[in-house]
Amino acid sequence: MTDAERREALDAIAREVAVCTGCRLHEGRTRAVPGEGSADTEVVFVGEGPGFNEDRQGRPFVGRAGDLLVRLLGTLGWRREDVFITNVVKCRPPDNRDPEPDEIVACAPFLRRQLAILDPALVVTLGRHSMGRFMPGARIGQVHGTYRPADPALGAADALVYAMYHPAAALRSAEVERQSYEDAAGIPAALLAARERRAGRDADAPGAPAAIEMARAADPAGAAPQPAESESRRPEPAVGSLPPSEPVAPAPHVVNPPLAASPAVSADPPPVPAVSPSVSPAGPADPSAQLTLFGGSSQTP
Ligand code: SF4
Repeated sequence: MTDAERREALDAIAREVAVCTGCRLHEGRTRAVPGEGSADTEVVFVGEGPGFNEDRQGRPFVGRAGDLLVRLLGTLGWRREDVFITNVVKCRPPDNRDPEPDEIVACAPFLRRQLAILDPALVVTLGRHSMGRFMPGARIGQVHGTYRPADPALGAADALVYAMYHPAAALRSAEVERQSYEDAAGIPAALLAARERRAGRDADAPGAPAAIEMARAADPAGAAPQPAESESRRPEPAVGSLPPSEPVAPAPHVVNPPLAASPAVSADPPPVPAVSPSVSPAGPADPSAQLTLFGGSSQTP
């Protein structure tokens, strides 16, 4: 799928969401909030549902919680346009109540289709309802800052899921805010793990070793041929960040020029403490917290 096709597919979902009456939440919405961000990103953030400001503007995470999310991204040198941001339900629950299980189920096909189109390496859940979708039975207090493989049935075919608190919870608790900055510092390590995992899958794919050998034989320099630029999307793994012995499979898509490291967005974020991994840790904070994120920056809708 080309970048343009991916964008058009996301726009088509946004148009469906705008007129959806699939659950009771459509009755009270001002505007549906399908999600927005890069159609060519490696990382998708999934929150719970739109709040007051999101409902007014039709955009996710635009209130104070959104400001904090932007600050968290800024600590990584990323902008919100560099990732894709959406929610498990696309319409605002009344009085900002939690989404009901049947509402989450009703809206799930939209999220599943978005993830199938984006094919992210990393899905970051924000809050327990989003976490519950991808880590059933887990408790946010135990799994925040950790990752595990995503269930492909939920849309992301080959991704890791990384759990974080919802930024709104961090606004209510200094301790949760502190832990949110810790967890954000673990995102680069989780993304690197996801890239390595995907690279390993590509190397294990039937025919891949033979294809690599053929490409090397045909190219004295040993460089594998690249697909057409029109299909460009994902990078080779960040080779410089991987162990030297890590096999690098030919990328399924042509490498996009990596985004230049973005200037930090945040104003005076709290210092990022060292990560103290717990259950299935993302590992220590990546020494280069400014891990380059591959992908474009455009908005939907
Ligand atoms: S929350 Fe989802 S399923 Fe419910 S009306 Fe909105 S778009 Fe449709």
